Amino acid sequence: MLVVPLIMASMTVGISRLGDIRRVGGIGSKTIIYYMTTTALSVIVGITLVNLVQPGSADTEEERIALRGGELMADTPYQVEGRTITLNTPGLGRIYDERYMVILSDQENIRGVVERITGTDLPRITVKQWENANGEQIQPNATGQGLRIDLAIVEKVKGKSRSVGVVLRNVVVGLIPSNLFKAMANNEVLPLIIFSLLLGGVLTTLGKTGKPVIKVFVGLNDAIMKIVQLLMLTAPLGIGALIAGRLGDAGGFSGFGPELIRLGKYAGTVIIGLSIHGMIVLPLILRFFGQQNVRRYTLNTAPALTTAFSTASSAATIPLTMECVTSGSGVSKRTASFVLPLGATINMDGTALYEAVAAIFIAQIYGIDLTSVQMVVIFLTATLAAIGAAGIPEAGLVTMVIVLQAVNLPIEGISLILVIDWFLDRCRTTVNVWGDAVGAAVVDTLEGRKLQTE
Ligand code: ASP
Repeated sequence: MLVVPLIMASMTVGISRLGDIRRVGGIGSKTIIYYMTTTALSVIVGITLVNLVQPGSADTEEERIALRGGELMADTPYQVEGRTITLNTPGLGRIYDERYMVILSDQENIRGVVERITGTDLPRITVKQWENANGEQIQPNATGQGLRIDLAIVEKVKGKSRSVGVVLRNVVVGLIPSNLFKAMANNEVLPLIIFSLLLGGVLTTLGKTGKPVIKVFVGLNDAIMKIVQLLMLTAPLGIGALIAGRLGDAGGFSGFGPELIRLGKYAGTVIIGLSIHGMIVLPLILRFFGQQNVRRYTLNTAPALTTAFSTASSAATIPLTMECVTSGSGVSKRTASFVLPLGATINMDGTALYEAVAAIFIAQIYGIDLTSVQMVVIFLTATLAAIGAAGIPEAGLVTMVIVLQAVNLPIEGISLILVIDWFLDRCRTTVNVWGDAVGAAVVDTLEGRKLQTE
């Protein structure tokens, strides 16, 4: 409710306060340099950690399939009838869902995505349809021997393949709104920022005519910040309810717990990486470049961080982040209104770190050795995928397709990490917002110094 009016009012006011529109260049370049440096640092932390911990490494193909949650039944005889396959083996390792497919290794890898599993003694798996590796529908022979159950591509990422060029183009083209109201309706932050920058800048050049309009925006901005303060009163209850609801959806601790344990090494690597970046790297930057007391600044930003965790959306958190860094920590409104909305869409340290860790983890569970050139490509595309991800829940999961494709890794791997993504999403969003908040302090200090020396 507050994101669109807040961005528009605060950006327009912020820019009109700069007085001379040419001064935007200084704050703009400092902000971009900060974004780039911290995102690069976070990806480096992620890549180093995942190579050290090796959460997806296994020695044999069988172990690797097991790591992916599937199973190899190299000698098991089976019968096929229509879409149903009956296995001559007592029971399966686990219950499979549509994230998995049956692959008939003795029949040119004919495959089918699991629809349901029945049968008490001998398992019967019904697949959605049989197809060959090229996706053409085909009916397998009635009997055979040797199959495996492995990850399938899930709906969520199907057809989402986009090349690096397309993502870049989308980011650039996305800057200019073709329809302002459509951008508002879709909560597209970048086009709104560009429009507000233009509007604020132009208003300052109109002299007497522009002044009352600027005043309206100033009033609007103050009113929205008041609403944010009111909203914060309900935050603790809202945050608790959001998290409880999401955990319930994931099957509660008994449903989600086992998945978390199964993927524990991977989730642990992401969380440790995020912690290193959020608790060591960013605080150091905050201390030395932002000249803030780290403890106080963190406490002041806590409401925004907990909201980021509970909503999994940097964009939805913007109003709170703004309130915390300005009223709480004394960052100037002018800097905050420039750095925070922009940061919420393009500065995602947590997402970039996660994209790199997840891509390399997927390479490990498929037994694919990555060359150092490929590591560099992952570094670059993870950064780009984070810039391209919108500040909404699980946006990073989908943009990860471009990282995987850039180094030819199987997209199916995403299905495995999908189950715990809602949780990791919250962790990385918290770091994304923390990165923006630290950025506001750093840019403010650098800008402040400039003003003093001018
Ligand atoms: N949910 C994240 C954010 O809003 C984006 C992502 O990594 O999915 O910052």
